[in-house]
Amino acid sequence: MINLSLRTKLIALVTLILLVGFAATNILNFEVSKGVLRTTILENELPLSSNNIYSAIQADLLRPIFISSLMANDTFVQDWVLEDEIDADRMTRYLAQIRQRYETFTSYFISAKTLRYYHYEGVSRTLSETNPEDRWFFAARDMEDPYVVNVDFNYQQNHNITIFINYRVVDSEGHFLGVTGVGLGLGSVSDLVKTYQQKFRRHVYFVDDAGLIRVHAQPDIAGKTTIFDVDGLGKIAKQVLTKDHGSYSYDSHNGKILLTTRYIPELKWHLFIELPESEALENMRSGFYRNLLIAPAVILITIFLIGYSINIFQRRLEELAITDKLTGLNNRQHFDFTLSQAVKRFGRDGRAFSLLMMDIDHFKDINDEMGHLAGDNAIRLAAKIISENARESDLTCRWGGEEFVILAPECSAQDAHRLSDAIRDAIRNAALFPDHPERTITMSIGIAEIRVGDTEVSLIGRADRAMYKAKSNGRDRTEFA
Ligand code: GH3
Ligand code: MG
Ligand code: MG
Repeated sequence: MINLSLRTKLIALVTLILLVGFAATNILNFEVSKGVLRTTILENELPLSSNNIYSAIQADLLRPIFISSLMANDTFVQDWVLEDEIDADRMTRYLAQIRQRYETFTSYFISAKTLRYYHYEGVSRTLSETNPEDRWFFAARDMEDPYVVNVDFNYQQNHNITIFINYRVVDSEGHFLGVTGVGLGLGSVSDLVKTYQQKFRRHVYFVDDAGLIRVHAQPDIAGKTTIFDVDGLGKIAKQVLTKDHGSYSYDSHNGKILLTTRYIPELKWHLFIELPESEALENMRSGFYRNLLIAPAVILITIFLIGYSINIFQRRLEELAITDKLTGLNNRQHFDFTLSQAVKRFGRDGRAFSLLMMDIDHFKDINDEMGHLAGDNAIRLAAKIISENARESDLTCRWGGEEFVILAPECSAQDAHRLSDAIRDAIRNAALFPDHPERTITMSIGIAEIRVGDTEVSLIGRADRAMYKAKSNGRDRTEFA
């Protein structure tokens, strides 16, 4: 019972250690990996995405700037203006040609003198300095730079950003003649944005200097929401807008969001690339749960193996504790225990049993003649003969030295006598010394059958006395007491 509870305690302790160990390493591992992943995303992945998108924007801008520069420096354009814009069709044809050749979205020329807006299909209207919509033209007229990039965005068609390159046309003396240019969709940028959105689950959007979200995957957000209104982002919005690039994380109602921003001076917009941490951690988290599931299985197997091993070793230990080393018979301790049980049982059921006390005759001489090792071997062989002659239910023990005892249940003195004769005959006829086959030994046996009132001591005492009687009566015989 004590062993069992000890074992239970041990198994419980090992289970606890394994459970806590597994959980702790798993959680620790997860937390560390989470930190590493967050840093990697903020310092490498998101900036890389933003670099890619920024490069694409710049590449997209180069072409229309080049085309517009060609137009502004075209002698046809300059001559046509200087010749008082006589034939509008010629300009229209020219613009249509440019549009077709370079596959632009639109192409146009606005005359400084007449303020007419020519485009590839004709003259659309005349600009007015008082119309706010035309402000861009007068701004271009007064600026120092040769060109300016204006961005138009279509909220209905998300990501389809159209850019206009407004290029100043000047004559050979530097007089301002008007503004020409093309409009072009930022095609590869929108493709990239879509790719990032779908493939990498990055949320890409553009924010202007005032914090207004200009381009966003959700149509109801673009042009309507400022980042100051966005849950969590609002708190850092001011800081984000004052920097030309940065990495941040903020808490939204959907959890932590990792954010990288970059200012795009050509568009005067901030590029925002976001990744919800939960999405980034999804793979890791499933791995974490998988590990947590594996743990109980490993623990179960380990506990089973521990329990199994403990059982085996315990059985072995128990066996060792009751076994005599030299002969493999039961030892004296086990005999004492079994005898006391048997005496008690006799008190209850009155079923008789007998003790046979055996002692090899003149064993000192054997040792003297053939040495202790040969003596030991003889003791071992004698033990084997004794247990072969005893019944299955008999308890055969080595009492000590060259003495043995049998506790024979449900066995009267007469039955015991028969058993003792059989044993003595077998011993007498056995060749116990391989080097001296002719040398034999004999054995004296004392028998005592239990009587009412007997104790272990009194019963053993009688068997012992009977054995000494056999010795004194000439040995190799059986006596009773
Ligand atoms: P007897 O019993 O016939 O009176 O004579 P004995 O010579 O056998 O005397 P006793 O039983 O008193 O002594 C037993 C001797 O057996 C003592 C010891 O030398 C020897 N002996 C006891 N245990 C062992 C043992 O484990 N191995 C060996 N080789 N000898 C043992
Ligand atoms: Mg003896
Ligand atoms: Mg002896």
